[in-house]
Amino acid sequence: MIMTEKKELLGLDKKEIEALIAEIGEKPFRAKQLWQWIYYHGETDFDRMTSFSKDLREKLKAGFTITRPKIVAEQVSQDKTRKWLLEFADGQRVEMVYIPEEDRGAVCISTQVGCAVGCRFCHTGSQKLTRNLTAGEIVGQFMTARDAYGEWPSPTDETRLLSNIVVMGMGEPLHNFDNVAKAMNILTDGAGIAISRRRITLSTSGIAPRIVDMVNATGVRLAISLHAPTNEIRSQIMPINNKYPLEEVLEACKTYQQQDGSRYITFEYLMLNGINDSLENAQQLIELMRKYKINAKFNLIGFNPWPGCAFQPSSNNRIHAFAKVLNNAGFAAPIRVPRGQDILAACGQLKSKKEGSKA
Ligand code: SAH
Ligand code: SF4
Repeated sequence: MIMTEKKELLGLDKKEIEALIAEIGEKPFRAKQLWQWIYYHGETDFDRMTSFSKDLREKLKAGFTITRPKIVAEQVSQDKTRKWLLEFADGQRVEMVYIPEEDRGAVCISTQVGCAVGCRFCHTGSQKLTRNLTAGEIVGQFMTARDAYGEWPSPTDETRLLSNIVVMGMGEPLHNFDNVAKAMNILTDGAGIAISRRRITLSTSGIAPRIVDMVNATGVRLAISLHAPTNEIRSQIMPINNKYPLEEVLEACKTYQQQDGSRYITFEYLMLNGINDSLENAQQLIELMRKYKINAKFNLIGFNPWPGCAFQPSSNNRIHAFAKVLNNAGFAAPIRVPRGQDILAACGQLKSKKEGSKA
């Protein structure tokens, strides 16, 4: 076999690793071992794969690589939120954030470079779509966070610091369906990285026809970026609503809820001053959920403004009044305190700042 370029192993699923092991003339049980080296031990150096013969290690070294994204910049906020700017082989960059809660925390990962959805309040959306990330690049982000915290081999669920994953970085995950689904299935495999499906939350702007498919393909939890109670307001801030209006998104949510069997669906709701934050809007939201018989929980998100953006964050008073209306109607509506503000740990901001300073 003549190889011109070494093949990247990160991002291969079990079947692909099995095929590769057969291709290089090794016995099938080696596939399981290689899987564990890559995803359970987090090993990137073939020489340290001690259960392999020298001959096999040389063979792997000659034809393959296991590459992590390169860390270009790293910042730690006063509240311990940690942020990385990561670069892939072709020079494209995304950001990743670790948000610690008391004794554990969530890593926020990206699925695309840029995003084609173009939500008006989102800095990533103002950057257009450059390309999809591969499954390896998606999984590689979380593995880089594990490298930083020394969480190899995969610790048990009870002891790990990086306990949860939120797919809420750059990009619309349902626009990169196959790679995202593959990455989710690698991240949750029990013999590897072993993050429970219930500890992964994937956020979507509401690509209605793919919502149920993603639940079926991966079993991870979904959060829906709702942000408005009417089509009129939603289309104004999220042009994607013209393609997939509220009715279609909520019908899909209803099916998802029935299939998933979870107690509630999480809706993200960005609080934009004077746009979607009136008490009437809260009431409309309640009526909408009752109409579709959806068991909903709302995360009220404080808006992180960015230079050139047309929106302002709602005042704390307004957010609390909005939450109260929802609470009184029986809906949980925790207010998400923005984290890592001193390091601009919001959607798209670190990346843009670096690129701005480069220009
Ligand atoms: N594309 C997906 C996931 C990434 S965005 C989605 O839209 O759901 C993750 C969350 O951050 C979304 O709810 C998004 O609406 C929100 N968001 C975008 N820009 C923001 C900003 N400037 N301040 C606060 N939240 C923002
Ligand atoms: Fe894309 Fe999500 Fe930003 Fe909208 S909010 S532009 S879907 S990343």
